[in-house]
Amino acid sequence: MVHIEPAHLVELALRNTPPTDDDAAALRHIERCDRCRDELRMMTRVVTAARSAELVDLPSAPPERVWQRIAQGLSRESAPPRPPPRTPGRSAKRKLLAGLALAVVALAVAGGVARHTLKRNV
Ligand SMILES: [Zn+2]
Repeated sequence: MVHIEPAHLVELALRNTPPTDDDAAALRHIERCDRCRDELRMMTRVVTAARSAELVDLPSAPPERVWQRIAQGLSRESAPPRPPPRTPGRSAKRKLLAGLALAVVALAVAGGVARHTLKRNV
């Protein structure tokens, strides 16, 4: 049985383009194939999680008082450390979110390819 390529499963999970004849054939296969159905379900979860991530989900710089305490503690030993740069702006956070989403999808695809390759070589 020929399974759906991981890249095609990602496209189906993303649903960014109108469905094609290939998509319809893939969805018919997915209805009958547990493996492809599980992979599509996992990729859909990853895409949903990446799309629903909020800016508040990203790590942010600690409050100023944390750095003040660190500086006080270290000032006895050496010069105080400089505080980190200000929290990234909204645009930088959006770029970071997009990068994280792409990384997660790339990992999902790589995992699918690795699994596919492993099964083929066993
Ligand atoms: Zn399949």
